[in-house]
Amino acid sequence: MHNELLKVAKFGGSSLSDPRRFGEAISIIKAQEERRFVVVSAPGKRFSGDEKVTDLLYACYDAAQNGNQEAFHRIFDRIKERFSLLQDALCPDFSLDEDFETICAGLKRRMGKDYAASRGEYLCGKLMAKCLGYPFVDPADCVFFKDDGAFDSEHTNGALHSVLTSLGRAVIPGFYGSMPNDTIRTFSRGGSDITGSIVARAVDADLYENWTDVSGFLMADPTIVKNPKGITHITYSELRELSYMGASVLHEEAIFPVKEANIPIHILNTNRPQDAGTIIQEHSKVKSGYPITGIAGKKDFMSIYVYKKHMSNEVGFIRKALSILEKYHISIEHIPSGIDSFNIVVEKKEIEESLYEILAHFKDEL
Ligand code: ASP
Repeated sequence: MHNELLKVAKFGGSSLSDPRRFGEAISIIKAQEERRFVVVSAPGKRFSGDEKVTDLLYACYDAAQNGNQEAFHRIFDRIKERFSLLQDALCPDFSLDEDFETICAGLKRRMGKDYAASRGEYLCGKLMAKCLGYPFVDPADCVFFKDDGAFDSEHTNGALHSVLTSLGRAVIPGFYGSMPNDTIRTFSRGGSDITGSIVARAVDADLYENWTDVSGFLMADPTIVKNPKGITHITYSELRELSYMGASVLHEEAIFPVKEANIPIHILNTNRPQDAGTIIQEHSKVKSGYPITGIAGKKDFMSIYVYKKHMSNEVGFIRKALSILEKYHISIEHIPSGIDSFNIVVEKKEIEESLYEILAHFKDEL
């Protein structure tokens, strides 16, 4: 139990990509005493066409696997360069040299793809901890995956809770944890959002702030609609609908840990901290005043039109049609129906290969 307000602040790669933005993130954290737990991604792109540190690490891993020494060292030096730019500007007395030696040896020993990918968050976390004077907590010791690779929520929650509450404040790298055999495992891409949510749940935060490079969710796609308004409040389930339709600001799985604990997520813009952002919460007292929260869309669907005379009298007809699609592991998006006809709407890429086989089954069996 805690009496003061407690916030978890997660910073995405774009917010930590260069010294100016990294410095901005530090100022934001320092501006509020309650931002006691900080989760970081690896430095992202500084400009369009730039490389994300995580992508460089994957490339480095591939070069090591292929025994391509020249490529390995060239890419590894680019990663080092990214961190020395940050370190020189923000924390000149600090050195990551030893860590780089360990990582270089680890990559050469082929410690695994996930180990390689996770080092961007690890180094970024170390640097941020040093800049803030906060303790560094390595998720390898307190974020756990099970033997089958699934995230171990309860084991993690217990371990994180005791480590973090005893420290009172800390920097925790996002994106990874460890397997029962002590190897490193990562979440899927963009997974630092999930770590932020797990940390918020473990410390029973009042708010999970997710700092990124946009001021929250927009009511429509700005490439289609001119100057859409921002969504200030949205429920977890509305967000799930919008994310499924392609509005990607937050990792889809990041809502589950905080949703259970009823902790709101606040999406904020590091470049415009004064903007309202979006608050994601199940039951908000604040009403937006709009009957529709937002509109999103998805392209490339195909519709199969099925017509049969007197279909309406045949019980189980649609079920038979759907079971044919089930055999091909095709998920169905929508089934608008008429009296003697219906349409099955599916994603084009799922059905393309087997379309004619499926249609033949429809004709035979229905
Ligand atoms: N650095 C990882 C990625 O690029 C994870 C993250 O940023 O959340 O996907």
